[in-house]
Amino acid sequence: MSWRDLMCGEPRPDHVGQTLTLAGWADTRRDHGGLVFVDLRDHTGVTQLVINPERSSAAAEAAKEVRNEFVLRARGELVARAPETVNAAMATGEVELHVDELEIVSRSTPLPFQLDEEGVDETTRLRYRWLDLRTDRMQRNLRLSGVVVSAIRRRMEELGFVDLWTPSMTRATPEGARDFLVPVRLQPGTFFALPQSPQIFKQLFMISGFDRYYQIATCFRDEDLRADRQFEFRQLDVELAFAEREDVLHVLEEAVRASFEALEREPPPAPFSRLGWDEVMRRFGSDKPDLRFDLEIQDGTDVTRASQFGVFADAPCVRFLVAPKAFTRGELARLEELAKEWGAKGLAYLVVDESGEVRSPIAKFLSETERAAFAAPPGSTVLFGAGEARAVARVLGLLRLHLGQELGLVDESRNEFLWVIDFPLFEWDDDTETWTFSHHPFTGVAEGHDELIETDPGAALSMAYDLVWNGIELGSGSIRIHRQDVQQRVFRALGLTDEEAQEKFGFLLDALRMGAPPHGGFAMGLDRFVMLVAGEPNIREVIAFPKVSSGSDPLTGAPAPVAGEQLRELGIRLVDETPA
Ligand code: ASP
Repeated sequence: MSWRDLMCGEPRPDHVGQTLTLAGWADTRRDHGGLVFVDLRDHTGVTQLVINPERSSAAAEAAKEVRNEFVLRARGELVARAPETVNAAMATGEVELHVDELEIVSRSTPLPFQLDEEGVDETTRLRYRWLDLRTDRMQRNLRLSGVVVSAIRRRMEELGFVDLWTPSMTRATPEGARDFLVPVRLQPGTFFALPQSPQIFKQLFMISGFDRYYQIATCFRDEDLRADRQFEFRQLDVELAFAEREDVLHVLEEAVRASFEALEREPPPAPFSRLGWDEVMRRFGSDKPDLRFDLEIQDGTDVTRASQFGVFADAPCVRFLVAPKAFTRGELARLEELAKEWGAKGLAYLVVDESGEVRSPIAKFLSETERAAFAAPPGSTVLFGAGEARAVARVLGLLRLHLGQELGLVDESRNEFLWVIDFPLFEWDDDTETWTFSHHPFTGVAEGHDELIETDPGAALSMAYDLVWNGIELGSGSIRIHRQDVQQRVFRALGLTDEEAQEKFGFLLDALRMGAPPHGGFAMGLDRFVMLVAGEPNIREVIAFPKVSSGSDPLTGAPAPVAGEQLRELGIRLVDETPA
């Protein structure tokens, strides 16, 4: 016995007259007074079954019991539909199966939701994920993910990369998040960390002579969950030895283009644009600018040095955006509220109404030169940010995005891939009052910036780069430090004593002493990439079994308490067994 001769989406007029067996799920069942119609579904589509008691009374008996999502096997003759019953909207709409035998293979209890139901609460969808995954949307997304992964693998292998596996139970790998820890029964009181990335291992591969490594690696980061973030996610992880930045960028461009090609979409033209970090921060107020609309930030610092408007004169940096709309007072108040949420003290503005008249409480303070510098066409508003450069960039960058959406400036038909290069090596951490890494501590130092590690860490540039697609960061990478002495100096700049560095990263420092070639790499967030390719707003829509924002999995109920005995074995005692 074969379960099926064709998939449910396959029968065509060519098959008319054949006796076929089909199997799948009952998508719908309609009883027309004895004559029963069942749409039999699998992921390829549906075929209409017609069960007529005059053709088979046994099949008709079985059909009475059929409910949505029962699994059925039907055998019968494929027949051309009468012209008036042809359904042009269905690929199989010209034919139907006249059933001789109908077997209920498996039954279903009443469903918590119908597969075609709109607006089902997400927790319910995830609780019954096996049903949810039957929907067209989820079938499409997960299959698309499979196509992308396989296209990437193929291209990486064509480019000479070797898929190498790295451990999931290891030491902490610093990528800026908290670690998930795994207690160890054999050594109570000790813990493995789940890797935030395979960073150090892939560098060791380079030192070992595997000069082109890749892996679809699962990474674990204990961070607050968001629309594009899960505790565990996959990265296309890549490392190359004897490589320059351009070599790495080329590989990633190929991986992206291969994905588009596999989906029969026009691949984005390579090379993608490259812009320096300093420039994108100035022009777009973000290190992941959305280039699908212009609305660039302009600088007014020079002209405001001697401003009569104290806020401008006193600020180290004054920048502005010219929005193509003369906002009302109410709208401006709302924008100011937002600017304050983003950390601004206020939002100075000049409204240029349709007649060219300027409305603004600050206009009277501005000199001719300032007015000329801020001149804007009728029907627009000049919005200012004044303060420290980073804060101004942040506020105007967020404002830019907000206006891009609100004023419909974003051209959704565009695909803008961008490399942001020349990131700073360190960032100042206000909380700990120390320098911290911008990417991770293994990021190479820009040529000629070595000395700055000690003398002016804030001015040192790195050899890091990010890939951005339509304003979303797809991943990061860098040319690495391959000299032990430089690595040691960076650890010191990050506030690690030599002993601490040895304790945490001694194995890497040792390896760097034993013939480490220059190397660099990248990691692209694969699920995030698939989310964007699928046009989904949320990463959970492209992951089969994701966690919700509280960090739990409604399907299995994880995370869950464990038995006292298990904790004892691990040498763990809970401080408070009834967490608030
Ligand atoms: N390990 C880095 C990350 O996960 C990527 C890299 O530097 O290759 O972001």
